[in-house]
Amino acid sequence: MPTTLFISDLHLSPETPHITRLLLDFLAGSAAGADALYILGDLFEYWAGDDDLSTPCHLQVVGALRQLSASGTQLCLMHGNRDLLIGQDFSAACGATLLHDPLVIDLYGVRTLLSHGDILCTDDVEYQAFRRQVHDPEWQRVFLAQPLTLRKAQIAGMRERSQLEKSVKSEAIMDVNAGAVAALFRQHGIPNRLIHGHTHRQARHTLEVDGKNVERVVLGDWGAVGNCFVCAPNSCEFMVIK
Ligand code: MN
Repeated sequence: MPTTLFISDLHLSPETPHITRLLLDFLAGSAAGADALYILGDLFEYWAGDDDLSTPCHLQVVGALRQLSASGTQLCLMHGNRDLLIGQDFSAACGATLLHDPLVIDLYGVRTLLSHGDILCTDDVEYQAFRRQVHDPEWQRVFLAQPLTLRKAQIAGMRERSQLEKSVKSEAIMDVNAGAVAALFRQHGIPNRLIHGHTHRQARHTLEVDGKNVERVVLGDWGAVGNCFVCAPNSCEFMVIK
């Protein structure tokens, strides 16, 4: 049966080799032969720039992704907030297409809206200000012009601050805003389904937007096990990856 797979929030890093192993097994196993694999952001815990391709973890991941795309599975990559500096060099090395966030696709006849999901967390005003800054092309140009070691040190500082800030923010502030979800549906002509990650609150929600029943699928993050949303022409379901 044809299938299309959606994953996000793996947060791969040298500190979590078991998650890299889960991904490598998944790419060579359940993902092999799929029509398409969509990675909806935060594949990596952080990404300092496409010149950081030579670490063993990155080489392994690129090799496995390239093998999948070379075998005929369409590979699509969306930026997360952690790996928004992934660029054309990394995508080309993997044989992946970089997607705009948000994007509507035709999924076996079902209009499906894809996003990393952080644009929906509008209650977190501080985060949205930070997001605007780091998405500014000029900020990215200046940041990427620095030596790799310096960029990595700055990212380590940002990660530390983000951990501290998250520990004092309420759970509600860090979830999606219902109004922002409805607005995103409306901006795209109310597609049947939205699939996003970022919040790590894996679930399938049904909701009504302007009288139309739609679905919001939230992908989970990867830890002891991974997870994947699997869509076939007539059904979709979550799959645990072990
Ligand atoms: Mn995220």
